[in-house]
Amino acid sequence: MAGTDRQRDLIAEGPSIVLVEPQLGENIGMVARAMANFGLADLRLVNPRDGWPNSKAQAAASGASHVIERTSVHDTLAEALAGARYVVATTARQRDGFKTVLGPVEAARRLRSMHARSEPGAIVFGRERFGLDNEEVGLADDIVTFPVNPAFASLNLAQAVLLMSYEWMKSGLASETATQFAGPEFLSAPKKELFGMFAQLETALESRGYFRPPERKPVMTESLRAVLTRPGFSSEEIRVLRGIISSLDRFSPASPRGSGSPGDDPRRRSANGQRSGKMGDASDSDG
Ligand code: SAH
Repeated sequence: MAGTDRQRDLIAEGPSIVLVEPQLGENIGMVARAMANFGLADLRLVNPRDGWPNSKAQAAASGASHVIERTSVHDTLAEALAGARYVVATTARQRDGFKTVLGPVEAARRLRSMHARSEPGAIVFGRERFGLDNEEVGLADDIVTFPVNPAFASLNLAQAVLLMSYEWMKSGLASETATQFAGPEFLSAPKKELFGMFAQLETALESRGYFRPPERKPVMTESLRAVLTRPGFSSEEIRVLRGIISSLDRFSPASPRGSGSPGDDPRRRSANGQRSGKMGDASDSDG
């Protein structure tokens, strides 16, 4: 039937819904049904507690058997997200860290614009009992939390999926967002700090003969700087990156952390005729 074919094309679109260690088959079934209601079809399960397939899920899915049938099972969240280019993690709880916190409307809008560029997205949901752990949230680009009653913030898993699926469907419409809590301010660092990182990295690369042949150095430097400029790093992020560059610069794989400095490594000294790790700037304090 032509109508059915068109519908199949439509429902194959959109972000994956990823459930981490879902416990109740009924919830998985209701998730599938909510997804089908709003045109999503790629359900991924990470270690479902009661295995897969699950008869309770099938019963609760009602007519959404097309979602149930193509549901995939994964050993790890990383594996379930492997093909995604933009990932949001949903949580009712405030988290520490660098991640931007979005409301469902803004999250759906970002997923939609990625989708328009054919960049696959994924929305991650946690276990019924305790949600997602920090490491799992850490695999996502952004955090999504719903505007809810702060004294009763935790939605049922399938209802949480329904809400995001609904926003996905509506995501053509722009709207103001409201979040229950805010992430850290993501102000881009003053350019001075960014340029300091350029200098540090370029010195470290230069001393290892990265710019080859020498006449390519300007164009290579330009690309490197473009890559480092695009994210609009904050001061904190630049500090983290500079600490990493310092550490790589200071310790060779053969000399584990704490065992010495570049000056102690005769191979590096002879290769460059000087200490290759010398940065002589603020980065040394970042460790
Ligand atoms: N008891 C858990 C919540 C589990 S609810 C906890 O305290 O974290 C199951 C999943 O639904 C959550 O892991 C999350 O993915 C989603 N969810 C529930 N309430 C939410 C909310 N207010 N905002 C965003 N996601 C929510």
